[in-house]
Amino acid sequence: MHPIIRKHSFKQFFAPNGKRDRHVNEVNVYLVGAGPGDLGLVTVKARQLIASCDVVVYDYLVNPKILDWVKPGCECIDVGKRPNWHAIPQPEIEDILIERARQGLKVVRLKGGDPFVFGRGGEEAQRLQDHGLTYEIVPGVTAALGSAAYAGIPLTHREHSSSICFLTGHEDPEKHVMHVDFQHFAKTQGTLCIYMGMGHLDYIVSELIKGGRTVDTAVAVVQWATLAKQRSVVGTLDTIVEQVEHAGLSAPAVIIVGEVAQFKEVIGWHERRPLYGKRVAVTRNKEQAGKLSERLEALGAEVLELPLIEVSLDYDPGNLEDVFAEIATYEWIVFTSPNGVRYFFELFFQKFKDLRCLGLMRIACIGPATAKAVEAYHLEVDFIPETAVAEELVTAFLKEHDVENQNLLVITGNRNRDVLVKKLEEDGRAIVDTLRVYKTEPSHLADHPDARRFCAEGAHAITFTSASTVQSFVDQVQHLQMGDAAQRPKGISIGPITSEAMKVKGLPVDAQAREHTIDGLVAAVLSKLSEA
Ligand code: SAH
Repeated sequence: MHPIIRKHSFKQFFAPNGKRDRHVNEVNVYLVGAGPGDLGLVTVKARQLIASCDVVVYDYLVNPKILDWVKPGCECIDVGKRPNWHAIPQPEIEDILIERARQGLKVVRLKGGDPFVFGRGGEEAQRLQDHGLTYEIVPGVTAALGSAAYAGIPLTHREHSSSICFLTGHEDPEKHVMHVDFQHFAKTQGTLCIYMGMGHLDYIVSELIKGGRTVDTAVAVVQWATLAKQRSVVGTLDTIVEQVEHAGLSAPAVIIVGEVAQFKEVIGWHERRPLYGKRVAVTRNKEQAGKLSERLEALGAEVLELPLIEVSLDYDPGNLEDVFAEIATYEWIVFTSPNGVRYFFELFFQKFKDLRCLGLMRIACIGPATAKAVEAYHLEVDFIPETAVAEELVTAFLKEHDVENQNLLVITGNRNRDVLVKKLEEDGRAIVDTLRVYKTEPSHLADHPDARRFCAEGAHAITFTSASTVQSFVDQVQHLQMGDAAQRPKGISIGPITSEAMKVKGLPVDAQAREHTIDGLVAAVLSKLSEA
């Protein structure tokens, strides 16, 4: 065994997640702003805390996709408040924070926008202090700033406005009392940003007029600001109630009053992007969906990710311990997929600090994508077969290499690679150990929020990137009932093999990417959806 291996006990590295000893002066609770929705607007500090904490307590206005960042084993508690209804009353939320913090857990209290802007962050901080707990506050982009930037409304402007007020249209839903004197604020000539005002829009408008703002004062309403589903209207105090009703806008929205609101027509970039207003379903596994989704979102599309296949870390601890104990004795390591590479090295670096602990083994890979994943670790691949088929790998491999009585390690998932191992043992007379590092399973889509949305509302397009996702889609999604209102999506395929699989399964192929890459697929979506 390599001496470095012995420095760390196996147990130490594979201790269950979650509870750990915390230092005396560590902060107990972080009150963190999650920004208005677009995940790109979350601060670096917030992201680091979300990725490292033991518990996240989050609100209704927090983009749920943020929870993808938490570490495995992190407890995520939804205390979501909806207008006029508190899912969990405020004192109970505070009790949750106190109780978890007292257990020595690192707690992130995540709030939409900024925790100190209509976010009850002050009350929570005070309560923590009363209980002798330590805390830090991490600001976030508040909804008014998100709405203004993404609707193209400069909140100050040298010619039109030199002050900004953030007001609430709904002081405390439990008290049902309005405290803001809108007539008073009407007299300031600056910009008014009104949060939580949609339930009282006509009242607010009439108070502002009574307070002296003219009926032709510009007003904008921005709903779900910064997200792909953002919608907004601009009008005047005279017309806005009717416009909002006509457009069907409701909470969550910010009302922006003042001449600067007119700039939305000129500067409103977000709603002008080429795929704005289009919903596109993406069918890849969770790990792979990212790049395609990002590209579509950058063009303004609302992306629904249907993660049809789930890949996750999976290993037998005894098997792993045995293999790692002997790791430097293998002559060859065979990787059968990029996921295998990823999960193998994840486990490897949990155990070893130094890549040299791998020893002097040679490396074989099935397929160029697998080889690329290995090369990312600055390791050269010694053997890649022409075709990515297990049997052919072995035949070609044995033609070039004599592995009789050599120790080989094959990295696998839960899908059977018996053929490969058997052939290496029988035809090559090698001594083969296998190490399973991940499993692939169909996801349970029935509870998935994007799948539910897809069934209820449909999409303008659905993309397919492999024959296996077509199969999985047909097995899983098609039997979920599509609602009557659901729009039938245009089927867009990455290439001929995928198109063929779609046709066989009776799915329409409305467009096929000219170049069989993610870029090609994005171009096909863009051109198909701009036809309509
Ligand atoms: N702490 C939050 C505000 C919470 S109060 C912040 O700093 O943004 C809830 C109100 O915020 C909603 O009623 C709405 O007026 C506004 N809001 C939150 N997210 C929004 C969004 N994405 N688009 C428009 N308004 C939003």
